[in-house]
Order: sequence, then structure tokens, then C-alpha cells
Amino acid sequence: MISPESITVLFACIAGLLCGSFLNVCILRLPAGESILTPRSHCRHCRRAIPAFDNLPILSWLVLHGRCRHCDQKISRQYPLVEAATGALFAACVWHTGLHWQTLLDATMIFLLLGLAVMDAQTFLLPDAFTLGGLGTAFALRVLQPSLSQRISVAKHTALAALAAALLLLLTRWLYRWLRKHDGMGLGDVKLLAMIAAFLGLPLALLTLFLAVLAAAGASIVQLVRGRAHAKTMLPFGSFLAASGIAVVFLGRPLLRWYVGFFH
Ligand SMILES: [Zn+2]
Repeated sequence: MISPESITVLFACIAGLLCGSFLNVCILRLPAGESILTPRSHCRHCRRAIPAFDNLPILSWLVLHGRCRHCDQKISRQYPLVEAATGALFAACVWHTGLHWQTLLDATMIFLLLGLAVMDAQTFLLPDAFTLGGLGTAFALRVLQPSLSQRISVAKHTALAALAAALLLLLTRWLYRWLRKHDGMGLGDVKLLAMIAAFLGLPLALLTLFLAVLAAAGASIVQLVRGRAHAKTMLPFGSFLAASGIAVVFLGRPLLRWYVGFFH
């Protein structure tokens, strides 16, 4: 017998695959300043429209052996990978939390963070549509939560968490500029951490920042040792923030409890 839980997880996975397909469009078009609604999906090489049956998440890429049906040019592996990651993470969200309002918040943030991680790694851009748009969405989802009695207090807490996170990164940015005489971090990173704080609250956002700094420092050291970088090589810090934010959805609360346990 298939349990109702596994059917819910399966549906979450399918929803994730479809959202992942849309996320591919956003990743491709937002940093270039193009509309995500028009024109319809088309091949980047021959510019022919892609019919719905050639646009099924993962499946179409496999059936077409990763090539366009018309011009036979390669279609990037990134498309099925982003779709698979979104499908797997949505399924993991439902499996981890069950079907609650919180799951909707977690899945929405994961969708945005996955897109931002890829966009920053490729273009060093964190589009406002995702960071500020995400901040507004987090605020709305928190305040509109059904069965919530203290909407004003939740609104106040969410706004304060986002503001505190943004101020912390702004201060770090100013300090870095003052010491090193150049910018070490973009304003996109500030907006991104504010968005994460609105979704997760301040303590988990600070944990995200801490993990991102650790991961980025580790990556820099590896690059320096391998001779692939020098002291001023730019790192897409937004990608590290986004990846840490996704990890914190699943591991953040147990990690914080473990940490607080040291002081009791
Ligand atoms: Zn083509």
C-alpha cells in the first residue's frame, strides 16, 4: 500500500519539477533584464519556439539527448539539473515538515535561493525581482498565515529581523570598504540576507551568514592553494549565502539547539 504521505511527497516533487522549469527561465532572463513572461520558451540557437511536449522537466532533455529538435545544438545540462534539484528539494520540504503553512514558506524560499545561487555564480548578479520580491513575499506569507492571532506583532518581528540583518551586512560592507578601500560585497548580498531573515527569522539568518562565511573562506583557501586565484579574486558570496540558507531550512533548528545546549 502506498501511504498518503508518500503521495504528498510525490506531488511536491512534481510541483518542484514544474517550478524548476520556470526557474530556468528566470535564471536565463532576469540577469539579462529580459521579461520572464514573453516571448515563449525558445531555443537559444535557432530561436524556434519550444512546444510543450519538448518542454517537460527532465524527460524532454533525456528524450532529445540534450539537443534541440530543430538545429541539433546542445541544450545545457543546467536545465535538467535545476529541475531535478527543485523537485528533490520540494519533496524534501514536505517530507521534513509535512503539509503546513511553514512548508509553503520553506519551498518558496528554496525556489528563490536556488535561482539566486545559480545567477550569482554565473553573472555576479542578484536580481531585485528575487531578493526584494522575495522579501515582500516572505512578509506577506508570514502575516497572511491562517489561524494567526497576532498579525501586527508578526509583521513587526519580520520587519525588524530583515532590517537587523540588512544593517549588519551594511556595516560589514562599510567596514571592509574603509579598511581595504574597495567593495568586498554587493548590495545584492545585503538584500539577500534581509530576505532570508524575513523567511527564517534573525537567529537562523545569522546562522546562515556564519555558514556562508565559513564556506566562502574554505573555497577561497582551496582556490589559493591550487593557484587558481589571488587575494582579490571575486567570489559569488550570494551563492554561498543562498546555499547555506537552503541547508539551514533542514539543519538550522537542530544546529541551533545543539549550540545552545553548550551553555546549559
Ligand atoms: Zn534550436
